[in-house]
Amino acid sequence: VIVGAGPAGATAALNLAPCCKVLLIDARSEPSPRIGESLAPAARRLLVDMGLWEDFLRDGHTPCYLKQSVWGAPEPVSSDSLRDLDGPSYRLDRRRFEMRLRATAEARGAALLVPARVRSIARGQVGITLQLHLEQRPLAVQARVLIDASGRNSRLLYPLGATRRAYDALICGWLRGRVRQREPSSVTYTEAVEDGYWYTAALPDGQRMLAFHTDSNLPAANDLRSASRLLERARRSSSLWSQVVDSDFEACGRPRVCAAHSSMLEPLSGDHWFAAGDAAFSFDPLSSQGLLQALYSGLIVAQAAYGTLLGKPLQPAYVAMQQRIWRAYREHLHGFYSTEQRWSSRPFWARRMGAP
Ligand SMILES: Cc1cc2nc3c(=O)[nH]c(=O)nc-3n(C[C@H](O)[C@H](O)[C@H](O)COP(=O)(O)OP(=O)(O)OC[C@H]3O[C@@H](n4cnc5c(N)ncnc54)[C@H](O)[C@@H]3O)c2cc1C
Repeated sequence: VIVGAGPAGATAALNLAPCCKVLLIDARSEPSPRIGESLAPAARRLLVDMGLWEDFLRDGHTPCYLKQSVWGAPEPVSSDSLRDLDGPSYRLDRRRFEMRLRATAEARGAALLVPARVRSIARGQVGITLQLHLEQRPLAVQARVLIDASGRNSRLLYPLGATRRAYDALICGWLRGRVRQREPSSVTYTEAVEDGYWYTAALPDGQRMLAFHTDSNLPAANDLRSASRLLERARRSSSLWSQVVDSDFEACGRPRVCAAHSSMLEPLSGDHWFAAGDAAFSFDPLSSQGLLQALYSGLIVAQAAYGTLLGKPLQPAYVAMQQRIWRAYREHLHGFYSTEQRWSSRPFWARRMGAP
């Protein structure tokens, strides 16, 4: 049983389904509108290996050849993907991407149960018992192996002894906006400012995403829930405003706020269970690696779970691989934050200067 049909859960399901009986459960019939649309170039290898690449190309996600950042100095620095052996990154139609993964899991034999919310779990006689709500009705399901892929806020595995450790208090306020003319530019833009950092990119549907990241316990966080205050903040950053955000940017609706901190579940696996994707560990969006990691952990958790079903002890290898990824992520993140010294006395940056 896999809880969560996001990128990690659906990827685990589509890899496991040809080998064993898989039930994929999600609280939502369709993915919710959310931020997180930049897919790292290396994902191409995974999509090819898992037989997903042709569909991915057909689905019309937008290649993105240029990144620009204002980080460590006031001048924008550009980097292109021309020398990346994996090619460009992609700007996803996130809903379409997730629906495709779900549909592929079903086509390969997984049963998809939506909308069904898992309320609690407990050790069963063989494996794990889950209590769900399916259309308001309670339902009990037995799993020989449970994979928790229900995202960064998951506490599903706490009753089995796991706990989540948060490493910072990063949150993100984001706003979608209409732009009068469809922008030719496909630049992904990041800018460090004194209380956090900005991210903006044009989306495949012609809208623009504008997002500000800061710590939940800093005064700047008070501006995240108001479109006018968020835009006022963006205007103060002349480079962001003049170079990237078209002056005709017209906000659509209210900003949304979500958690964006680094966190890790400990342990990552136990008797008859595994955590994958953000439920295992969540990344700072600065890394742009969350989706890549969700796809990769979906693949390797499928191998480890299948090993458990066959009585082969692949759990330690799964945990060791995940821990290696986590350590590399922490070191890179620390290295990247350390290159920004202009506001080293401001709390947002001072908190990120210590050892990783
Ligand atoms: C602000 C922000 C920006 C980001 N930008 C990027 C980016 O540009 N590029 C990138 O690669 N990554 C980005 N990420 C990270 C990326 O979105 C995540 O890493 C990725 O979504 C993780 O996939 P997942 O399948 O593990 O979890 P999720 O995508 O969170 O999916 C979890 C699923 O579980 C379901 N669920 C939850 N609880 C239950 C329950 N009790 N019962 C049943 N179902 C349940 C949910 O409905 C959901 O479908 C960003 C993250 C943030 C916070």
